[in-house]
Amino acid sequence: MSECIFCRIISGDVKSNVLHSDDDVFAIEDINPQAPVHFLVIPKKHIPTTIDIGEEDHNIMGLCLSVANRIVSEKGIDTSGFRIVLNSGSDAGQSIHHLHFHVMGGRPMKWPPG
Ligand code: 5GP
Ligand code: ZN
Repeated sequence: MSECIFCRIISGDVKSNVLHSDDDVFAIEDINPQAPVHFLVIPKKHIPTTIDIGEEDHNIMGLCLSVANRIVSEKGIDTSGFRIVLNSGSDAGQSIHHLHFHVMGGRPMKWPPG
């Protein structure tokens, strides 16, 4: 069994609130939301961080952003604005080493982040 929590969620071993699933891309509600809207878009392929993205993964990255856009529209924050965050490595606070896009919105957000 995989030790990666997102691989376990994608395989269905661990329950989650699924927003989207296709051959390449998975999306779930974040279990600890930092904004009124906070979901995660996750490539099904186990890519640990952005540094590990290969040329063969370029299409998947675009597909992830398309899924993010669709869910953002469904949740009605497409016009108010939203933030997409991809934490990579320890200084950025990445806690799960399976690449994922945070998509957050529903309130004004400060810039720069801490
Ligand atoms: P990171 O810190 O790696 O950028 O983000 C990991 C995110 O995954 C966090 O926002 C955290 O709340 C979320 N998370 C951690 N474990 C689970 C889980 O079991 N289910 C869901 N839905 N989200 C999780
Ligand atoms: Zn994984």
